[in-house]
Amino acid sequence: MTDTPRDLELNPLFARAGEATSFPRNRIPEEGSLPETAYQLIHDEAMLDGNARMNLATFVGTWMDDHADRLYREAFDKNMIDKDEYPATAEIETRCWRMIADLWNAPDPASAIGTSTIGSSEACMFGGLALKRRWQHRRRAAGESTEHPNIVLSSAVQVCWEKFCNYFDVEPRYVPVTEEHRVLDGHDLDRYVDENTIGVVAILGVTYTGMYEPVKDIADALDRIEDATGLDIRIHVDAASGGMIAPFLQPDLEWDFRLPRVASINVSGHKYGLVYPGLGWIVWRTAEDLPEDLVFRVSYLGGDMPTLALNFSRPGAQVLLQYYLFLQLGMDGYRRVQGSTMDVARYLAGEIGAMPEFELWNAECDIPVFAWRLAPDPTRRWTLHDLSDRLRMHGWLVPAYPMPDNLADITVQRIVVRNGMSHDLATYLVRDLRACVGYLNKMDAPLPDGLHSGFHH
Ligand SMILES: *Cc1c(COP(=O)(O)O)cnc(C)c1O
Repeated sequence: MTDTPRDLELNPLFARAGEATSFPRNRIPEEGSLPETAYQLIHDEAMLDGNARMNLATFVGTWMDDHADRLYREAFDKNMIDKDEYPATAEIETRCWRMIADLWNAPDPASAIGTSTIGSSEACMFGGLALKRRWQHRRRAAGESTEHPNIVLSSAVQVCWEKFCNYFDVEPRYVPVTEEHRVLDGHDLDRYVDENTIGVVAILGVTYTGMYEPVKDIADALDRIEDATGLDIRIHVDAASGGMIAPFLQPDLEWDFRLPRVASINVSGHKYGLVYPGLGWIVWRTAEDLPEDLVFRVSYLGGDMPTLALNFSRPGAQVLLQYYLFLQLGMDGYRRVQGSTMDVARYLAGEIGAMPEFELWNAECDIPVFAWRLAPDPTRRWTLHDLSDRLRMHGWLVPAYPMPDNLADITVQRIVVRNGMSHDLATYLVRDLRACVGYLNKMDAPLPDGLHSGFHH
């Protein structure tokens, strides 16, 4: 795969007498090494990973405070599946998803049901599976075919939905994003849904652009469809990022369980939930929205406890970290943290939108994420990919990528502002961005093409 098959060499400064000075790259070494030797080797190699602080491509949290780090260290060994061994962690997990059900205005958090997951991808699989199973039960009860389930979603969905459709044999019906309909907004929905539609996915914070899909408009469109056809189609909201932004910054926006059509919602605890990687959540409005036959039982304090998981063993520490943040920040703390992240996003969007070279994709930030494209200029000799490369020379990771189908000839560049991107740091980014654009504007010939690496959301 690579052209570097040579053994890993140990810096002589760290080599200990009698120990190996090199390690095979792709084979477990015959002899072991001292712990400090192995540590140093891995420490040095991991240093080649990027600087997370300057990575404006990722949504995932990369910093927690010392108390969180201490809790994390104390909980490294906890296995989420082992409810019997770790009943306190299991109890805290339940408290967390109840808090989240309440945050999302579940009509009765006591009758809601939820779970933690390894991330939003796993949570989305469950959201989709519950919709599919519910549809199957209904169809079978009516003596109708369950052979051709479909799900309706925007062409700008995150890749986990393509996986869901692929792994669980559901036909995806993509509604293309266009210049007019930049998100799934309910237009022409009746052309996509039919009696085989298991549900509609609405995204709160589209990965490509950060925009919210108007869940209420989608629900209204489905109400009209039900009036006309009798089809009762539910919504799963993929709120991977927006689920921890909207309740704090746009509390009046109706996107959650306030809309009766919303059956389930997921969020990534490790995005704007502010926890280290490895945590997602999903909540269903009521236990009826999660068909009982998807639930497994594991032993718990002499009894049993319902669980839902694709995996068996999984780290439990992140659940404790989420609980830590709920207690430590409270609603007010989350409002302040998300608010200041949003202020930085607005500042950056303002500065970038004001540059004559750029046009913002959306005028307002929904989550602290925004994208822009190049303003038309036939004399320009550079692309957003060139700008992205140039910014890398200053240490910034700001990806450029094509929009999804139907808009694939449009390239955008995106910034995800996370906690830790201070106003100060943002002013440096603007300074560097201006310098890069100034440099590119001075070129009298285009750069060679086709050397840019692809970006995956
Ligand atoms: C990030 C993201 C996902 C996947 O979430 P993970 O927690 O990384 O598994 C799914 N949907 C949307 C909209 C996302 O932004």
